[in-house]
Amino acid sequence: MTVSVTAIPMLADNYSWLLKDSGTGKLGIVDPAEAAPAIAAIEAAGGRLDVIFLTHHHGDHIDGAPELKTKYGAKIVGNAGDAHRLPKLDIAVQEGDYVPFGAANARVIATPGHTIGHIAYYFGDGGLLFCGDTMFSLGCGKLFEGTAEDMYESLQKFAELPKETLVCAGHEYTQSNAKFALFVDPQNAALQARAAQVAQLRGEGKATLPVTLGVEMASNPFLRALDAASLKRLRTAKDHFS
Ligand SMILES: [Zn+2]
Repeated sequence: MTVSVTAIPMLADNYSWLLKDSGTGKLGIVDPAEAAPAIAAIEAAGGRLDVIFLTHHHGDHIDGAPELKTKYGAKIVGNAGDAHRLPKLDIAVQEGDYVPFGAANARVIATPGHTIGHIAYYFGDGGLLFCGDTMFSLGCGKLFEGTAEDMYESLQKFAELPKETLVCAGHEYTQSNAKFALFVDPQNAALQARAAQVAQLRGEGKATLPVTLGVEMASNPFLRALDAASLKRLRTAKDHFS
């Protein structure tokens, strides 16, 4: 794996992700909400931008893309089916497509649920998953357009990836997600350990992402087959969380 990744905090709680291919020096960015923090990170990393990967059409994932394309001539990648509501696409993709990036390839995974046209990008070889607003650490995205069944199927696609995969999600929601996760799954030791780690990281002002898929498989209630007691608590959760 020759691609490394760095989180770029944007807006209140968004993460955009800067990719660097060590072999070619190529840079890519995932979901630039804003241009200015992206440009600062790009200039520090080599001053070029080759590819802009978009997961979905929400403004807090695309608004920086046009300025970055104009400044660096980067190619914009996004879902062909959502082209009408994304910045002009140079590479329109769909489920199963591969997008070359340096020596690596990003596999496109259709993940409807948060939006109908949401896609994720997976760099194989035990690599990286850019899942936008489909999955967060200890949680998943709101269902703005898709159904719960759509979201379930999308999350199951992530559950099939190697456990060492680094999950690079679109928001720092982990600490509030931990409260819900602990409510529905209070006896889960892996979740308790993750929640304690998250509290420490946030206390130090640090990001809780990326996180391995293995940790999420053990702690994220939306990826786990919950036992009967947890399902019972889940039914009462809406009285505690709104
Ligand atoms: Zn969104």
